[in-house]
Amino acid sequence: MYISSLKDIPSINDVLEKLELDLTLNRDYLKLILKEEIEFLRSRISKKKVYKSRESIFDHLILSVKQRSQFSLRQVINGTGIVLHTGLGRAPFRSSFLKKTAQRIDGYSNLEFDIINGCRGDRQTHIRNYINAICESEDSMIVNNNAGAVLLCLNQLADGGEVICSRGQLVEIGGSFRIPDIIEKSGAVLKEVGTTNRTHLSDYEKAINSKTKLILQVHTSNYLISGYTKSVELSKLINLGEKHNIPVMSDWGSGTFTNMEKKTGIKETTIKSILKNGPDLVTFSGDKLIGGPQSGLIVGKKKWVSLLKENTLYRTLRCNKIVISLLEETLRTYKSKSFKKNNLSLMLLSKNREDLKRDGEKILSKINRDQIEKYNIYLTETLVEAGSGSSPQQKLESMALSFQSDEIGVNEIAKNFRMSFIPVIGYISENIFYIDLKALLPRQNIKLAKIINNL
Ligand SMILES: *Cc1c(COP(=O)(O)O)cnc(C)c1O
Repeated sequence: MYISSLKDIPSINDVLEKLELDLTLNRDYLKLILKEEIEFLRSRISKKKVYKSRESIFDHLILSVKQRSQFSLRQVINGTGIVLHTGLGRAPFRSSFLKKTAQRIDGYSNLEFDIINGCRGDRQTHIRNYINAICESEDSMIVNNNAGAVLLCLNQLADGGEVICSRGQLVEIGGSFRIPDIIEKSGAVLKEVGTTNRTHLSDYEKAINSKTKLILQVHTSNYLISGYTKSVELSKLINLGEKHNIPVMSDWGSGTFTNMEKKTGIKETTIKSILKNGPDLVTFSGDKLIGGPQSGLIVGKKKWVSLLKENTLYRTLRCNKIVISLLEETLRTYKSKSFKKNNLSLMLLSKNREDLKRDGEKILSKINRDQIEKYNIYLTETLVEAGSGSSPQQKLESMALSFQSDEIGVNEIAKNFRMSFIPVIGYISENIFYIDLKALLPRQNIKLAKIINNL
């Protein structure tokens, strides 16, 4: 038997030469991954891992570098059932949507240029009127994400002073976004009032002093306190603010533009109706229930929005042209005839169990009989969430394909799906692998069947 030795490891240059015959990639990048792979081989061979021959070591290196030199960010099939999945890029886009955007801003664009007057313009003009029309807001602006929007608004309204917020609303959104921390970073001091489950108007009133600069309401969309609870309505906070001449801001992370309860089962107040109460500023995400690109939207009183634009922090948070273009495209479709077709997030969220059952049967009919038997594939009823902390208490009805095999472990099934030509991301529950159909895009049905047949 052939025993592989460290001497069998080819030189970097030999492998590079072969690789460069059919890869047109940056040489330094190739070298970097190649070095890592060689290091890995070295440790395997030192640990007495055996390769068939010198040639097989060479081939192995070529293959692993080729695998690793694929594009890193690429398309996956979302089989989690969670339409607004932060790990999978939140709100999805149609490729036609992306292509139209690419054509519009191909090369140079009038990002900050006023074409009519021939002078410097403002990137916010591309978006402002759409938002103002949809939300009936006095003024609006956008930044990179809602966390940035909250930071900017807090800094503008409350830097050096106190922010009053209920203990029931000091939420963590995930990752490093926590309301107490962001208040601190904004330069303000948090003044907590009430208790975890109950906060009264009088709690807010008692906390007001000469240092108070802002009353903050946070939409606790990603968790639910139930039982013996009380919170103060936004309109009452606004009345209190007016009485003491203190601005009131609301962070409404998963805000929507349309009432979507009938179509999707998601109960969420529209930004327009929140603004009817007269808050000074409201912030929300562009890539949650709005269905647009990653962005933070700010609506409210003109005097505050104008000041936000002068704030130094704004420069660090301003959106790029790709985001602005995608958001313009998203906003234009709102309430238009093609709305449902064009807003992929809402289209997916609107699919009911009957629709998904039909999709599932279509996929099943395209799967080979032996694969169905091998993996015990069934169409089963499931419940999913919208995702990104949007209304987690409201479970949405869905359907999934379930996979279970006597020969192949469930983790291996999941891995094989991830390794297919388009990675499929599903989930495991009680030793069964599921691909939920709620977040499957139109025209991915056939692709999915193909992937299953090739498994
Ligand atoms: C999601 C959310 C945020 C953070 O928004 P990003 O767009 O992820 O930056 C902040 N506040 C609330 C209430 C949220 O739901």
